[in-house]
Order: sequence, then C-alpha cells, then structure tokens
Amino acid sequence: MKILLVASEVVPFAKTGGLADVAGSLPHAVAELGHEVRVLMPLYRIVRQRATHLQPLAAEVSVAMAGRVYTGRIWQGELEGLPVYFLDAPEFFDRHGLYGNEHGDYADNALRFGFLCRAALAALKVLDYQPEVLHLNDWQTGLIPVLLRTELAEDPFYRGMATLLTIHNLGYQGLFPPAALAELGLDPALFSMHAMEYYGKISFLKGGIVFADLVSTVSETYCQEIQTPAHGHGFDGILRQRAGHLLGIVNGIDTRLWDPGHDSVLPAHYTATDPTGKGSNKRALQRGLGLTCDPDVPILAMVTRLATQKGLDLLEAAWSGLLDRHLQFVLLGSGEKIHEEFFTGQRGRHPGRVAICLGFDDALSRHIYAGSDLFLMPSHYEPCGLGQLIALRYGTIPVVRRTGGLADTVHDPLDNGEQANGFCFREPTGQALLAALDRALAHFGDTSAWRQMVRRAMSQDFSWRQSARRYLEVYQLARQVRNG
Ligand code: ADP
Repeated sequence: MKILLVASEVVPFAKTGGLADVAGSLPHAVAELGHEVRVLMPLYRIVRQRATHLQPLAAEVSVAMAGRVYTGRIWQGELEGLPVYFLDAPEFFDRHGLYGNEHGDYADNALRFGFLCRAALAALKVLDYQPEVLHLNDWQTGLIPVLLRTELAEDPFYRGMATLLTIHNLGYQGLFPPAALAELGLDPALFSMHAMEYYGKISFLKGGIVFADLVSTVSETYCQEIQTPAHGHGFDGILRQRAGHLLGIVNGIDTRLWDPGHDSVLPAHYTATDPTGKGSNKRALQRGLGLTCDPDVPILAMVTRLATQKGLDLLEAAWSGLLDRHLQFVLLGSGEKIHEEFFTGQRGRHPGRVAICLGFDDALSRHIYAGSDLFLMPSHYEPCGLGQLIALRYGTIPVVRRTGGLADTVHDPLDNGEQANGFCFREPTGQALLAALDRALAHFGDTSAWRQMVRRAMSQDFSWRQSARRYLEVYQLARQVRNG
C-alpha cells in the first residue's frame, strides 16, 4: 500500500509535542511491515537549520486563494530511508516558531495551514504521486479531506485516495473567524453546521472530522471520552455522529530513540535485567540539578508542556502537601505564563529538594527520565501521553490521573497486582493526587516490591509494532470506505 503521512511537526525535524514523536516513528514502523510510506511537512526555519541533506526538487506548486497566487517549492529529505517532502514557502514557514511566538498564535495561521493543505494536494500532481491513503494529523491538515470531497471531488487524480484523520488532541481545533473561508478560497457553503461551522467560527478540525473517510484518536479511552459532553470540547455531537467511523489506536514510542540501554546522553546505561546503572543516573541528576545526593530519597519528576491540560493546577493545589513528603521534586517544562510564574516563584525556596527547569530540553528530559523514581502526570485529559510510556521504559514509575491514554497504559496495584506498573487517581483534586503519591511512596519503601515493579515496567513492549499493525488495518478499512 502507498501511504502519505502529512503532519505539521515530525521528529527529528520539528517538535512541540507528542504529534511529532508519532509522525516521526509510525512511518518507519509501517514501512517495516512492507508498505511504501512517505511524509510531507512544512519547511520551517528550524528544519532548514537542522536538516542538512535536503535536495530541492525541480518542482514548484502554485496555490490560488482569494485571487492571490502563492507558490512554494518542494524539497526532499529522508527519515530513516523514507522520502520526506518539505513544503517551502518562506512567507509562511520561515519563522522562529511553528505556530506562534511569545505573543501567541500567528495571526495568519488559517492561511499558513490552508496553504499547507492546498499545496500538499497540488504537490501530489506535480510529483505524479498517487498514494492510496492520506494519513492526516490534527487541525493543521483538516482542510485536506474538505478539499478532496468538495472542490476536488470530480478530479479523477484524487478520486480513489482514502483519508484517515488522526486527532492527537481535540483541545486544538483550528478555529478562525468565518471570513477565513473567503481568504482560503473555500466555498461559502462550508459555513454550515454540517461542514466547518462551529459556534459562529470555522474549524479546520471539524472539517476534517466531517469529511475524512475515517477518524482516529490516540487511545481507546480517549476515543470514548471525546464522545461525551464532559470531554468533547464541544465536538462530542459531531464525533457521535461519526461513531461508526471513529476508533482509537494507542501510540507506541520509538524504542530505539528512547532506550536506557543505549541512550547516548546518559552517564550510565541500564536494562530491565541489569538496572544498576539507574542509580548512577540518579546520582548524576541530583548532582547536576543541585539536589542533595541521597540514593534513598525518591525523586518525583515531571517533563511537560506547562499547560492547564496537564493538571498543573492540581500540582499547585497539592504543592505544600507534596513538600511535606519525604521526596525531591524535579520539573522540566515550558508554556503558559501563569504556571511558569508559579514555578519561578518556587525556585531557590527549597534548596537541595526542588529543581525547576523552565525551557524545552531533550537531553535534560532524558537525564530526568533516567534518574528519577516517580513520574507525575496529573492531566485533566490526555489523548495518549508519551511521557508515561517513556518513563516506564526508563524504569520510572508513573503516578497519573486515570484519563485517556493514561488509563489505558498505567495499571494500579489496586486494580491488578499482576500488571501493576504505576499509581492512578481519579478525582481531579490535589488530595487525590497526594493519596496516589502516598501509595507510590509506600511502595518505594518496600525495596523488593519496588524493584519488581520497575523490572515489569521496563520489560513491557511499548514499540510501534503492535500499533503499526492496527494502523495498517485501519488504512485498509479507509480504502474500503472510500472505494466500496
Ligand atoms: P503532549 O503532546 O500533549 O505535549 P505527550 O506526553 O504526548 O504530551 O508528549 C510530550 C513529549 O514532549 C514527550 O516526548 C516529552 O518528553 C516531551 N516534552 C514535553 N515538554 C518537554 C520539555 N520541556 N523539554 C523536553 N521535552 C519535553
């Protein structure tokens, strides 16, 4: 099967969150099953800086929107031997950020990602490349199914192409004022509740949900949750309408990129069968972050976007209680100002016990995953979550709110002792967080039980193999939906 994955961020070229990890590792896992996979993404400034082996293709795409013609060039690079097409349009993508800057989202994001969608489809013709499945991701690619099923519906070049839209986070809906429709050269009739209209605005994501052949999300629990008013972000109705074409596939992680046995930034390597090196990582982390060097005090860590979604308000509510416990706390994160301010305020106030690192730092995140004992994810909602999967692989036991992908991947001893690999709480409160943390700390105190849990966590299979097979089935299904 020929599959093109289109995403607005792909590891190792550009990343702000989990979408990039998925887009960077699923293609290879699907290709390993014997299929032809290619990837398409924007050529951001950071890609130009990082990716040194890009070849310009003798191919230019022109896109007309509202009487203006925008042109882009196509460059080719590779991802583990698979072709990657980069859309180069400096006016849209040669910027410091992917989606915005310190003042917020870029004002022309509708045009930027409208261009991405139109240019991606135009590029297929220019390259004379007809994938059987277009695997689209999040709102940035949501216009592709809209275009295919409206203005391009009669074009034989595209007719057989099936679409799967994967929602990595329903909280980001690509909402714009209705005037964006005209700017994007789209049919005004799309401003309808049966198409892209959403409470007086237009939504790229809704367009994708309505027009894609199949829609998926990144865990089964999240797939159920988003069909309820409590977690549907206002999209539950439209998702229920598409329930027959909606499914959940849990993410894997790239176990070669996330491997405590080989991770090149770590001072010591370790495995499930020989976990001793984890202690050296803990020592190095404590030393590096100015924490008291003590192998017996548990380190509780977070590596996260500082967004309310991630339950930082619960952590803040539990903060003084948390500091009453015998533990050290490490946070690496960047994001919303309100949370940055809270943690900036805590810096230096608990010397030797608390380390706050604001910023995005892949190498430091690896030191933290390897050197900590407990990994906290008190998310209000979590489509899949990669942090807990990476933590498990690095033998760091997750303490999580039981929601979305966290519910599917973290198993509490209270539910099933045989499978237990972490600690869960349900109520979105600081007290519930502390109660789960206390159970985790008690478990940490029982050395042999703790070792057993760590070994179990590290021995689990989080690779993409299983999920890549599921995606293949779903690609086949999408082709059946499209072509009967
Ligand atoms: P989301 O995509 O909602 O941010 P996920 O848990 O799915 O959450 O994925 C987050 C990914 O980003 C993980 O790989 C995590 O290690 C990484 N990450 C998040 N914040 C930072 C940070 N400040 N520095 C380095 N890596 C980070």
